[in-house]
Amino acid sequence: MPDATTVLEKDRQDPLKAFRERFVLPDGVIYLDGNSLGVLPAGMSRRIAEVVEREWGERLVRGWNDAGWIDLPARVAGKIARLVGAGDGTVAVGDSTSVNVFKTLSAALALRPDRRVILSDSNNFPTDLYIADGLARLIGQGYELRTAMAADMDDAIDASVAAVLLTEVDYRTGWRYDMAQTTRRIHAAGALAIWDLCHSAGAFPVHLEEADADFAIGCGYKYLNGGPGAPAFLYVAPRHLEGIRPALSGWMGHQAPFAFTADYAPAEGIARMTVGTPPVLSMSALDAALDAFDGVDMELVRAKSQDLCDLFIAEVEAHCPELELVTPRERSQRGSQVSFRHPEGYAIMQALIAEGVIGDFRAPDILRFGMTPLYLSHGDVARAAEILGRIMGEKRWDRPEFRTRAKVT
Ligand SMILES: *Cc1c(COP(=O)(O)O)cnc(C)c1O
Repeated sequence: MPDATTVLEKDRQDPLKAFRERFVLPDGVIYLDGNSLGVLPAGMSRRIAEVVEREWGERLVRGWNDAGWIDLPARVAGKIARLVGAGDGTVAVGDSTSVNVFKTLSAALALRPDRRVILSDSNNFPTDLYIADGLARLIGQGYELRTAMAADMDDAIDASVAAVLLTEVDYRTGWRYDMAQTTRRIHAAGALAIWDLCHSAGAFPVHLEEADADFAIGCGYKYLNGGPGAPAFLYVAPRHLEGIRPALSGWMGHQAPFAFTADYAPAEGIARMTVGTPPVLSMSALDAALDAFDGVDMELVRAKSQDLCDLFIAEVEAHCPELELVTPRERSQRGSQVSFRHPEGYAIMQALIAEGVIGDFRAPDILRFGMTPLYLSHGDVARAAEILGRIMGEKRWDRPEFRTRAKVT
């Protein structure tokens, strides 16, 4: 056990501790799953009730103009741009991450028409691989998805590659690519870089422009706390904006949607990457959620996230020698999560959740714990490790009910 006073002292001196009030967490729960579904921001219920009752209920279709619904995606995009190091007019919000992989990847391929290979990481999140494979099959013409292990990525980037689709932080291990360095390597081979920021946006400072990324995509419901199924976002580097003709050429990305012309003409700039009517309710929730980042110094978030990861690793290793750490010990090489491997990982996680510590399980054997510094304290993390230690020591996970797999893990 670390000295309890040291943990207390760290929490007392925590420059982010006041932000805890911006979130609502259930009593008796230590939430280490903000990397899968962010928590409820304070004031959300009121805001959503207002949108439903005042805007939808009273304004009805007039809400598109007088409640500003039509401009809501662009407003939300501005808030996200600040968190990912992107300039004005380079981020669009809407659809899911999966759909945005399709949109950005199809745009990237069209910018490198003489190349046929999409390169990705063998351990990338499956939807990224599935969408890339589906797109390659849809286009035909010799397009293919090729994958390589992260350690072999540099060698795999050659002159046949049109676009490299990588997730900055590995969703299982928490291992993190060096985005700037890998992007340089991709550009040196004449290919384009598409970064998936699902485990980056809102977790630590992201510098898309500085890293010279070509495209990016990311999730609204993980570290951004936009709520289950929140709209996702995408980024296009300014140099590519005017050269893209979207594959999903929907009316909301048209130059003049309400001219109702039969021919498609892309809107100026990033607006062309929007497809259909925005989901106003969930977009309003994401909009409100992003206000929780007002005045937040993301460098402080990063520093505390790494402190929490270090503390959790040390405590779990002290209490649970049978769990194998799969996340890098080196701070710069990881995102904002800590993962351990155990053959009975699923049952262990269910036992842990039953005791109020919520993390998640990723097949085949990974116990995953997300660190979200705006609402977690050092005390929470130390306590979670202590409870995990008790579950392991007393084999409390070894019960049939903890082995029954639910649909969502
Ligand atoms: C969570 C996640 C997704 C999710 O995609 P959805 O379309 O929202 O289901 C995609 N990619 C990565 C890397 C993720 O972590």
